[in-house]
Order: sequence, then structure tokens, then C-alpha cells
Amino acid sequence: MLENIDKQYVLHTYARNYVNFKKGINATLFDENSKDYIDFTSGIGVVSVGHGNQKVADAIYEQVQNITHISNLYLIEPQALLAQKIQELSGYDMAMFFANSGAEANEGAIKIARKYGRTKFGNQRYKVITLEHSFHGRTITTVKATGQEKMHSPNFSPYPEGFSYNNVLNDIYTSIDDETVAVMLELVQGEGGVQPFDKDEIQQLAKFLKEKEILLIIDEVQTGAYRTGEFLASNLYEIEPDIITMAKGVGGGVPIGVVMTKHKDIFSPGDHGSTFGGNFLVTAAAKEVLTQLDEYKTAGALDEAIIYFEKKLNEIYEKYSEYFTQKVGLGLMRGLRAKDEETLSAIIKSAFNEGVLVLKAGKNTLRLLPPLTISKEEMDEGFKRLDNAISKI
Ligand SMILES: *Cc1c(COP(=O)(O)O)cnc(C)c1O
Repeated sequence: MLENIDKQYVLHTYARNYVNFKKGINATLFDENSKDYIDFTSGIGVVSVGHGNQKVADAIYEQVQNITHISNLYLIEPQALLAQKIQELSGYDMAMFFANSGAEANEGAIKIARKYGRTKFGNQRYKVITLEHSFHGRTITTVKATGQEKMHSPNFSPYPEGFSYNNVLNDIYTSIDDETVAVMLELVQGEGGVQPFDKDEIQQLAKFLKEKEILLIIDEVQTGAYRTGEFLASNLYEIEPDIITMAKGVGGGVPIGVVMTKHKDIFSPGDHGSTFGGNFLVTAAAKEVLTQLDEYKTAGALDEAIIYFEKKLNEIYEKYSEYFTQKVGLGLMRGLRAKDEETLSAIIKSAFNEGVLVLKAGKNTLRLLPPLTISKEEMDEGFKRLDNAISKI
């Protein structure tokens, strides 16, 4: 049985659910028994343009039948064109490096910040401040950048130096010292509980950091690629960060990470690299994904989907006020705080049984990250199933 094969040969880093999905169409998945599920997870914010997207499949096929990979030692046409597209959509005067994941994009951001500190301030500045409840990745460095004590397990120590954490934005002002090179944050903390920050507070902090010549790194691995309704959450917050990272939704499922910065001359040849990063396959796919999302946003369809999704979610929130304490999130990155962890686990399990996939964030947040292209019918069906699921716990 497949489950036993998986258990025998794959390391157990996830508490895996042994459903065997065989096919997907937009926000609907079908398992091996043809049972259908409405997908409010999009593979944790990845499948931004939906499952089984024919035009993405065509773009990949067209590319792969010619060249899949050639290394970054040579020009990669779709990489250059994707970079241009991302720059234009962002509206920021930045250049970028392509990695393979969010954690790797954040590694790149930290390297840019460290070299900036060394070249501009004679190695005096190297420390990065992040926030408690943040999430920045699973490599040794990004685990350490993640401001959650439980992630800094002694099993993996020693960790790199130079990271410290603040509980709230306001504490950052007094934590900065003359060794601080950067502040790194998510504008909406995803894994931490779908928690957006206040726009005024972020703008004020950004202004302060600029005056102090301290870099602002915005981790948009989850919020980027239209998840909050704008191309970047930084656009929504109307700030100009020094460095922005993206990953999840950019490639619609192919592994791609992006680190972009306005400090275009910090890296020289040899400073950073990646064998696979930005290869023909992933950049051809991402170019098609962002083209589709750009059109979808421009046509007004994304804003409509956001409004409708929020309305349906609000109905659940009001109907089940005995279970939920708060509505959180932005765009198609939404959450409901459950009154406790047990209630949340029961809801997630029941939702699965009813045929709707949902996520957990933080300790007790029900998190919803549907494909951005989810249809009205899929939303209606998904929320109907979620309603049934909650009524049964
Ligand atoms: C998912 C996530 C990461 C890590 O991305 P990986 O691709 O899993 O390495 C980093 N930062 C944020 C904000 C994320 O949501």
C-alpha cells in the first residue's frame, strides 16, 4: 500500500494525511476514489492560478521540450523576461536573484544585508532584528531568523549569531543599536496567525529605518504575487523596502524564490549563486503565472473574488460566534481565530471529512489560502461544506 511505502521510504517530517489526490481543476481536487474536495489551501499559498492550469502546463511543455536547464553561466531568456515583469509589476526600481524556495530567498536577503553592512559600515553592522511570531524558513539561518523560541531547538544548534527578536513593532525603535544592519518582517504574519500589521505603524517604522540607514527587508514569501490583493503587500502598505523576498505563489507550483533589492551593486560575481535557481523550466512557468494574475487583477476579477470570499467567510464567523473570537487577514489570506486549539483541530478534521481543505496557522487560527482564481461556485460549495463541518463538531 502506498501509505506504507511512504512511511518506509520518506522521512517523517510531516504529520501526513494519507489522501491520494489524482487530479485538480482550479480550486477543486479529486482523490483516487473520485471524491472531490474544495481546496482552500492552494498547497499553502502556492497554486495561485489553480490546479491543472492548462496555459501554465502548455508554457512548461513548450519550454521543456526545448531546454529545461542550462545553468546560470549562460543567459536564460525567460529568467531575464520574468525579472523585467516582476520589476514592472512591483513598481520598484529593483533587480533580483532567483532561488528555489522562500527560505533560500531569505538567505539571499540576509547575505545582501550583511554585505551591505560590511561595505558601507566597515563590518560594524551585521545584526538583523525580526519579530516574535514571525516565520522565515527552515534552513539553519532562517530558523534562527524566525522569532519563535520553539523553532530554535537545541537539536540543531549552534545557530548563526546576529539575530534578535521583538514582540511588537514599537519595541524595534529601542532595540536598534549601532550593530543593527536590517529589520526583517512580514506585513501579514502568515504562519504566525494571519496577522496584518497596522499600515501607519509600518510606514512610520519604514521612515525611521531609512533615516538611520538601516535596511528594511520585507518577507513576502506568502503575501507576494497578489495574495493580499496587490502584487506585493509592500504596494498595499505603500512603503519602499530595501529588500523584498517572494516565493510561494510566484510559480503556481514550480519551486521558485525571488530576492529583489534596490541595492543593485552589493552582490558581485561569486557572492551568491544557485545551480537550479531561475532555470528555464521555473521561469517559463512563473512568467505565464504572473501574466495570468496580472490580467486577472486588471480585469477586476481578483478584487471581486476577494470581496465575495470575505462575505462568505463573514457569514461563517457570525453564525459560529461561539467558536471564533476574531477575523483576521487581508485579500485571499484569511483567518478565523478559534477559541482554543481543540476546537480548531476538530474543525479542520471535520472540514476534511466534508470535502473542504483548510489550514492551521499559529496556535489557534483557521487559515484559508484559496487559489486566487477560485470561482464563485467553488467558494459557495467550499463554504457550504465548511458550514456543515462546523455544525457537526
Ligand atoms: C513559507 C514561508 C517561508 C519559507 O518558504 P519555503 O519555500 O518553505 O522555504 C518563509 N517566509 C514566509 C513568510 C513564509 O510564509
